Amino acid sequence: RTSSASVRMAPTAAEQHTRKAVGLAARDASGHLSPLAITRRSTGDDDVVIKILYCGICHSDLHSIKNDWKNAKYPMVPGHEITGEVNEVGKNVTKFKTGDRVGVGCMVNSCQSCESCNKGFENLCLGIIPTYNLVDLDGTITYGGYSSMVVVHERFVVRFPDTIPLEKGAPLLCAGITVYSPMKYHGLNIPGMHLGVLGLGGLGHVAVKFGKAFGMKVTVISSSPGKKQEALERLGADAFIVGKNDEEMKAAMSTMDGIINTVSANIPMAPLLGLLKPNGKMIMVGLPEKPMEIPPFALVATNKTLAGSLIGGMRDTQEMLDLAAKHNVTADIEVIGAEYVNTAMERLAKADVRYRFVIDIGNTLDKEDS
Ligand code: NAP
Ligand code: ZN
Ligand code: ZN
Repeated sequence: RTSSASVRMAPTAAEQHTRKAVGLAARDASGHLSPLAITRRSTGDDDVVIKILYCGICHSDLHSIKNDWKNAKYPMVPGHEITGEVNEVGKNVTKFKTGDRVGVGCMVNSCQSCESCNKGFENLCLGIIPTYNLVDLDGTITYGGYSSMVVVHERFVVRFPDTIPLEKGAPLLCAGITVYSPMKYHGLNIPGMHLGVLGLGGLGHVAVKFGKAFGMKVTVISSSPGKKQEALERLGADAFIVGKNDEEMKAAMSTMDGIINTVSANIPMAPLLGLLKPNGKMIMVGLPEKPMEIPPFALVATNKTLAGSLIGGMRDTQEMLDLAAKHNVTADIEVIGAEYVNTAMERLAKADVRYRFVIDIGNTLDKEDS
């Protein structure tokens, strides 16, 4: 009885969600995005209320709205490369104050008490709450950054360095940390090492920039010959191989210490593993829809490692941003208005973006609402 009385007295999720916001939502697996009135929770003691100014478009957003991973919850407001300004903070918040420039990436909460969380790897917590498409602790479905504002526990908010523009830095919140973390933990950040970057999209082009910032030799392996010139001249890669060009692939066999695999589609793996030196490592960050086929000999014959990596922890995310500021690593972006988002998704599906779409939420989303 006592417990049912206290349950009745506690505000329901709906009662706490009093803050009105607008989002761009997909309603079904067509993935078509259109404005939706949403609510956000009122400010909790540990919460930071953020006015969203920019949000990058990650390929994971596209996989998600199309239900590629068979876990979509509609209506879905995607977006996990969020930058903006603090509007309000809860009474326990010490790291941020109103007006601060901040970022939010792929998660907005975790259990905060397991071994992974205690070590700073909230990304590996079994209780991770992704920024969108999961039921939050209060029973509501999380909505991402294609929206006017968001309320996030301060642990999952990062300080945005003054020298990085909010729009060019937004993609670092997912693309940046996703490539930085495996480079750090798999020792693929050593000057003079040879790094392969497979797939030159949002993640890939940031991997090239971090590789060069670390003093590595960087080779891009791409399916798009048209990206060669800018990969070499603008992004600073040392070499560029077209995956389907047998001669170029043959010449690069057994030359790479590691490969960051960012490809979003299923492609044959054996020739790519052949690019690694003995003991070389391929780190999968791309998430194609179907299982991969790996011939055992391609791994076993010369002691190769195939590993996976999911985004990164909050401490590493802040470290990555500060390092990006130091080395001037930002994303190459195409800024778009909210009204262009469906066209942007079509172009992203065709790898037709140099190299990240970023939605100008602050100047265009509220207009969508009216
Ligand atoms: P993106 O911008 O679309 O880049 C992916 C790149 O893969 C494309 O630019 C293209 O590069 C290559 N590619 C695409 N289709 C291909 C095909 N059929 N054959 C060969 N190459 C192809 O995507 P992104 O945002 O960088 O994300 C990449 C992948 O990582 C996605 O699957 C995404 O869901 C996943 N992801 C994972 C994490 C994580 O934590 N592990 C975090 C973020 C994203 P070229 O034109 O150079 O071939
Ligand atoms: Zn992402
Ligand atoms: Zn945890």
